[in-house]
Amino acid sequence: MVDSPTTSVPNPLCDIGRTHPRDRHRMRPVEGRDNVWFCPKHELYAQVIDSETAGGLDRGDSFPLPDGTPGTVLRHGDERAGGTILYVRGER
Ligand SMILES: [Zn+2]
Repeated sequence: MVDSPTTSVPNPLCDIGRTHPRDRHRMRPVEGRDNVWFCPKHELYAQVIDSETAGGLDRGDSFPLPDGTPGTVLRHGDERAGGTILYVRGER
């Protein structure tokens, strides 16, 4: 196995921290899931999806959360592990 992308790279910054420099913090990995992170403070997820899919999504589009419930695209993050990080949050 050559493919162990999650062990050596830092967790992504929470999307909220990107716009609030005094509140920069990293997200936590979701147990049992590769390349999926969660911020319990802001209740948003980041996950790596393939870049082609990510390129077809815009802020506000519907996208399911990693747990399968309906979510909304917040923004795109960095490229990672052969894909693009997508920030999503639950609909409410
Ligand atoms: Zn956060």
